[in-house]
Amino acid sequence: MNLSPELLNLLRCPLCHPPSPLSPVAEGTVLRCAAGHSFPLTEGFPDLRPDDLKAPAPAAQQK
Ligand SMILES: [Zn+2]
Repeated sequence: MNLSPELLNLLRCPLCHPPSPLSPVAEGTVLRCAAGHSFPLTEGFPDLRPDDLKAPAPAAQQK
């Protein structure tokens, strides 16, 4: 995976309060926090957006 340890140390789960560190799982394709929240890694970059922001807008942004 392309995620550097330095970047990984800075990442925190946005859904946890207080934010908790994220660890790579599933062969480095997913980041997961201690509470079980998981975020996909897209081309080496973590996608930390909440699920409601990941959902495509209705009738918009269609490729
Ligand atoms: Zn979390």
